[in-house]
Amino acid sequence: MPNSATPTHCPYCALQCGMNLTPVEGGTVEVSERADFPVNRGALCGKGRTAPAVLSSRVRLTSPLVRSGGTLVPASWDEALDRIASELSRTRAEHGPDACGVFGGGGLTNEKAYTLGKFARVVLGTSQIDYNGRFCMSSAAAGGIKAFGLDRGLPFPLEDIPRTGCVILVGSNLAETMPPSLRFFTELRENGGTLIVIDPRRTKTAEQADLHLAPRPGTDLALALGLLHLVVAEGRVDEEYVRERTAGWEEARAAAMAHWPEYVERITGVSVPELRQTVRMFCEPESAMVLTARGPEQQSKGTDTVGAWINLCLATGRAGRPLSGYGCLTGQGNGQGGREHGQKADQLPGYRKLDDPAARRHVAEVWGVDPDSLPGPGRSAYELLDALGSDIKSLLLMGSNPVVSAPHAAHIEERIKSLGFLAVCDVVLSETAALADVVLPVTQWAEETGTTTNLEGRVLLRQRAITPPEGVRSDLEVMRELADRLGVEKGFPTDPEEVFEELRRASAGGAADYSGITYRRLAEENGVFWPCPAPDAQGTGSPEAHPGTPRLFLDRFATPDGRARFVPVSHRAAAEEPDAEYPVLLTTGRVVAQYQSGAQTRRVDELNAAAPGPFVELHPRLAERLGAAEGDPVAVVSRRGRAVAPARITTAIRPDTVFMPFHWYGEGRANTLTNPALDPTSRMPEFKTCAVRLETVGS
Ligand code: SF4
Repeated sequence: MPNSATPTHCPYCALQCGMNLTPVEGGTVEVSERADFPVNRGALCGKGRTAPAVLSSRVRLTSPLVRSGGTLVPASWDEALDRIASELSRTRAEHGPDACGVFGGGGLTNEKAYTLGKFARVVLGTSQIDYNGRFCMSSAAAGGIKAFGLDRGLPFPLEDIPRTGCVILVGSNLAETMPPSLRFFTELRENGGTLIVIDPRRTKTAEQADLHLAPRPGTDLALALGLLHLVVAEGRVDEEYVRERTAGWEEARAAAMAHWPEYVERITGVSVPELRQTVRMFCEPESAMVLTARGPEQQSKGTDTVGAWINLCLATGRAGRPLSGYGCLTGQGNGQGGREHGQKADQLPGYRKLDDPAARRHVAEVWGVDPDSLPGPGRSAYELLDALGSDIKSLLLMGSNPVVSAPHAAHIEERIKSLGFLAVCDVVLSETAALADVVLPVTQWAEETGTTTNLEGRVLLRQRAITPPEGVRSDLEVMRELADRLGVEKGFPTDPEEVFEELRRASAGGAADYSGITYRRLAEENGVFWPCPAPDAQGTGSPEAHPGTPRLFLDRFATPDGRARFVPVSHRAAAEEPDAEYPVLLTTGRVVAQYQSGAQTRRVDELNAAAPGPFVELHPRLAERLGAAEGDPVAVVSRRGRAVAPARITTAIRPDTVFMPFHWYGEGRANTLTNPALDPTSRMPEFKTCAVRLETVGS
């Protein structure tokens, strides 16, 4: 491998910060600043800076493991792959193809996500595939498709943020989740714009805001409706825009007018003067944005909540205008690309619908199979995990750790244990991998080439900078080997660029059209925004390469008539509200030094020292009632289980709410408590609010 620096991107969050990697002794790399990538301009958070530690970690897996006599023991690759193939074959023969499940991840590259969807549908013939991105952005995706006909996290680049007039940031603590992005908001304020943060906690992000609203968890929908009510009542509707560019306003308006500000104040705890101030700050500048993240989205009414915020943008003429609009801050590294290329239960590559006959024909032709042989839509992520051990007998899992990250996690852990067979591909023995019958050690970010699509819809090239250790193989090689053993000898290349070339053809003409993007362009242009049709598919007769599309919807929305749709929505309660037995609200989230289920970051000494374990954040009034002092172990009990962690007492949280980060396993596993009530459209579980009671430990 070359000793010069290789430009690439961070393995963790959806910002996909640029970095340079240089190989060093010990099988790892040194990270250096890469100032040419416009998103982070060289800045990295601690997770990105320390990511090389996982490459050479002493707990890195470098040999397949096969369960024998109840214990995982080292095995050869052939032995491990043969075992997986024979178990999947047997399951199919005895119970049918849908008894085989496949579970992917939002961290997989586009090439892997694409191949995993193809593997499930072509090799296994199963409809039962979904991925952990369902737990991340599915409500925003569903809301965006309903309103705009298309979901791309941000329909504009991050660099537009400093030039807008006002940003309402709903349920995002990006100062901790993606710290380098904070500079866009700092520059916004330096330029005279304002930042409004909506979060039940006064987070590090909220501390930067001009206005912080702290609604009761689970009431963001009512809050957006109250703001829209005031927009109408104060005569701030952009009537011409509504007439020219939208449909469905009257129904949405009528629904909003039923949400009087005083009623909204009672539901949310946000005062009427705060609501009025928000409307003033949002409506007075020429441009403004609403950005949502997991706070409003991870609710059993997440799709409607996103719809309510989009309605606010539409009524005020913000969406599809320069420096304005609605966007979602996707979380996982390839959360955006991961949902575009076919590992989602209801989708085919190019963001095509699996139940669309034309989409099936197109993709089947690229895959060289009969469209009628492709299975239909399968179960969503939680429903798939919940069916393990009953309808689904065998599972292949790649790039996910649901024992820590799924809601009602103790139940999901039991479902996983009840499987007839589990195979896991991972780089370390995660809590889920530890339950497997076969574990395959796979290559990591710096050891392989592939593309990801960041939260802006910018397709990026991650480049191999180091040779992988002996004993590991790439996920693409795993799928190729399994396909071979299961009788499909063609169509599963192991070269990422070859996979990408096929993905380009499969996505051509779809909503997420990558057909005009090549590895060469990605390297030369530092990323390309989709849609980017191939020159011969632009319909213009132009031989020129398409430049990509940094800004969507400026002329028309992606609906058949080009108009955005208002969606009439009304407030409804969370699936679980506090009562006499469970009188407190729990909300969950992240800390800066850990990432998702912690499978990688908990293996990095520096990050562990900074964030060694979970905690229960609670208000002094609640702590006093409980009789708990700072650091005392506190038990948080929900209808699903009990978690124990030290108290962290702060006035930065509402007195009716406690917060726990969800990165850990063991007695402090926050997802033991969370509620798997699902959004009816997106099938997103209600991670962000459930009812709990607190106990001092020993009581
Ligand atoms: Fe990596 Fe995200 Fe940190 Fe950037 S902000 S260094 S992409 S984890």
